[in-house]
Amino acid sequence: MTTLAIDIGGTKLAVALVDEDLRIRDRREQPTPASKTPDALRAALQVLIEPLQRQATRVAIASTGIIRAGELRAINPLNLGGLMHFPLVQTLTDLTGLPTLAVNDAQAAAWAEYHALGGKYHDMAFITVSTGVGGGVVSNGKLLTGAGGLAGHVGHTLADPYGPQCGCGRVGCVEAIASGRGIAAAAEGSLAGCDAKTIFIRAEQGDEQACQLIQRSACTLARLIADVKATTDCQYVVIGGSVGLAEGYLAQVKAWLAQEPATYHVKLLAAHYRHDAGLLGAALLAQGE
Ligand SMILES: [Zn+2]
Repeated sequence: MTTLAIDIGGTKLAVALVDEDLRIRDRREQPTPASKTPDALRAALQVLIEPLQRQATRVAIASTGIIRAGELRAINPLNLGGLMHFPLVQTLTDLTGLPTLAVNDAQAAAWAEYHALGGKYHDMAFITVSTGVGGGVVSNGKLLTGAGGLAGHVGHTLADPYGPQCGCGRVGCVEAIASGRGIAAAAEGSLAGCDAKTIFIRAEQGDEQACQLIQRSACTLARLIADVKATTDCQYVVIGGSVGLAEGYLAQVKAWLAQEPATYHVKLLAAHYRHDAGLLGAALLAQGE
């Protein structure tokens, strides 16, 4: 049985065929359409999956946002170009005629990373730091999705009550400070208007403001990890995402976490499946594993 796996993110759409043994074939991706309409997303997905769908027996989708009853609802509409609502499962069932499962991307990635830990640990959390900050929690060997799909959205917990407005409607969320967009939004002067990728390059070149912006993100993430440890008593926290996996970032997070009381210390790992964790986790869930 081969799964057509789809990852819908804030900046890119990725599709691939995933075999039963989790081998990824024919991975392809393109930018998430800038247009804010469901039609644009549907059309982009149709083009991406068309060459692959005949080789698959089922579809598994990992998507940003809250996935409730097969529908995508944006928690932070900024992450999907303003798209608020999209009938994910219905759309892919119509396009492919195949059984389709949809799950939040960070929850899917948590499940893949839980598998990568080899079944030795039954309580873990996954946090991705990229366009936004997402998360997934595995508790006693079970992936938590929650009654309405909201479980694990740790990026929208409070980091600073006097912090910046978050796209979800709250003020001072971890996402508004630690995410790639949060890092870029706080840049001033010579870095004003730069994206997170550029700010990381400038930090490597020794730019003081760039270093401080990244440090602020890493410190905020470390405090979040202490909160997650207090909430879930997890044995591991796995970090993914383009910011989370950027050179030197995890080391900074570890250093900040070490300054918290020992009760809140937890082992930190970089995501084993790197940028494919969402695709693979959705495929694993579709396989019933
Ligand atoms: Zn928020």
